[in-house]
Amino acid sequence: MSEDASAKKELAAVRGTRDILPGEVEKWQALEGLARTTFELYGFRELRAPVFEPTELFEKGTGATSDVVTKEMYTFIDKGGRSLTLRPEYTPSVVRAIVEHRLDLEGTPMRYYYMGPMFRYDKPQKGRYRQFHQVDIEVFGEKDAAVDAEIIEMAHTLLGKLGVTGTETLVNSVGCRACRPAYSAALREAAGKRKSELCADCQRKAEANPLRIFDCKVEACQAVARSFPIIQDFLCAECRDHFSALLACLDVFKIPYRVDPRLVRGLDYYTKTTFEIVFSHLGAQNALLGGGRYDDMMKDFGGPDICGTGFAMGIERVLATAALDPPKRKMLYLAYLGDEAKKVGLELARYFRTNGVECLVEYKDRGMKAHFGRANKLQASWVLIVGENELKSGRFGLKDMATGRQSEGTPADLLTRLLSG
Ligand code: AMP
Repeated sequence: MSEDASAKKELAAVRGTRDILPGEVEKWQALEGLARTTFELYGFRELRAPVFEPTELFEKGTGATSDVVTKEMYTFIDKGGRSLTLRPEYTPSVVRAIVEHRLDLEGTPMRYYYMGPMFRYDKPQKGRYRQFHQVDIEVFGEKDAAVDAEIIEMAHTLLGKLGVTGTETLVNSVGCRACRPAYSAALREAAGKRKSELCADCQRKAEANPLRIFDCKVEACQAVARSFPIIQDFLCAECRDHFSALLACLDVFKIPYRVDPRLVRGLDYYTKTTFEIVFSHLGAQNALLGGGRYDDMMKDFGGPDICGTGFAMGIERVLATAALDPPKRKMLYLAYLGDEAKKVGLELARYFRTNGVECLVEYKDRGMKAHFGRANKLQASWVLIVGENELKSGRFGLKDMATGRQSEGTPADLLTRLLSG
């Protein structure tokens, strides 16, 4: 490899990360804009937390036996000797922020959303990245199953606006601290009987947290897991009622769903409701979003006993299925000839921008022909011509690049024309 080629390789983006360049980024902006306006219609407000947090936050929140914590965290020791982790998910950060700032005492709705990067050291493949992006929403202090149904409905509304069709909604209940131990014991027993058929990892999970066997991607383990008892047979009266209420509210919203008794999701903290919206054409990485209830996390963090529910949506995966066609931007290209025209051009550019017209000035000595060539290449919508004659008359030329029509007028005349088309 030449020195040049190896330098290029060394400086390439890290495996599992990627650049989102102009041309693609407009779709991200459109998604972010639609997410923001949708969530705010439901009373959500943005809460921005840091990208890295103390490692214990995720060990305690996400759960010490989850794959995300045991295998996938980007953890490092900082110069002060403290173990920090690039967040693999967002929920523990929101809970920490609430406890730290006692947001529960403010009397405002505890509904938060956020959009940003998450980090997991998993094997990169199509639809799975090491730096990926999530839209995350959380609601606190609402025990009622209606709120779980409401956020599922909100997710559907957003996916509808994004033009995502052909999804399926899976729901389940994973019980609570009262009823789950009996289910875990039944799973441990069932897994123990078929231990030799499980992968080494699941053999370990069979002891530590048999529920996590459902997360395993190995086909043989999944086949064994299909024979395990289902949680619906173990739910306590409270969890059973909560689950029926969830299904009844989904019916009110007319959201079709399928109960998947093995939907336990990869994180340890879920209680009662879990759900996923999946897309059947995405291959193995088909979950567009997933979430559920986590009624014990805040209390476990030493905060007040406030329940929570929410979901995280993968932006990359949703964009791969979305039918978004952001409108093409309209840009005015300023073509000036000579130093005097440049000064006036700068003033004009400021005037048009102040009035909401995107205006590009490139500081290169160009003749008029070269200006038009460049404007064409940039796909400018219009060219503003500032030459000697225009300086004298105070009337400037405007060429519409789509129709080829050229007109002239004062800056105010041209502004009216630019804003009308
Ligand atoms: P989770 O936090 O694992 O429930 O993930 C929520 C959503 O984030 C998933 O449904 C995916 O859409 C997305 N997601 C999770 N992990 C990745 C990843 N490594 N790369 C891309 N998207 C991901």
